Amino acid sequence: MAGEPQDDCLFCKIVAGQIPATIVRETDTTVAFRDINPQAPTHVLVIPKAHHKDAAALAAAAPEVAADLLREAQAVADQDQLESHRIVFNTGSGAGQTVWHAHAHVLGGRGLHWPPG
Ligand code: AMP
Ligand code: ZN
Repeated sequence: MAGEPQDDCLFCKIVAGQIPATIVRETDTTVAFRDINPQAPTHVLVIPKAHHKDAAALAAAAPEVAADLLREAQAVADQDQLESHRIVFNTGSGAGQTVWHAHAHVLGGRGLHWPPG
């Protein structure tokens, strides 16, 4: 069921503390941790504690938590004192989504080209 922890979900396991992660922020509804394969000096993933398969599903089921995610993404940028940053939601395998639990990538600390690849 949407929102319930999924046994086979890596990020649900991070939320449950069953897999270690470098957690940089936590709220009642979200967790932020450093990406294991960073693509920039700051590369943090902000996820809802509840399981939703992607950002659109999260926004449809729990819009207030989608807003929490954006607020926390900005808080990560502030915490790492980023001058500029990019927030990315890869949605669908063709766009590079590999983990089917909604997550915002917060990238910064280097120049970021536009358009992205
Ligand atoms: P995406 O490809 O947009 O679904 O993003 C998934 C991200 O999760 C990738 O950037 C991975 O490097 C990252 N990732 C995978 N496993 C872990 C882990 N155990 N801890 C932190 N980040 C992870
Ligand atoms: Zn999950």
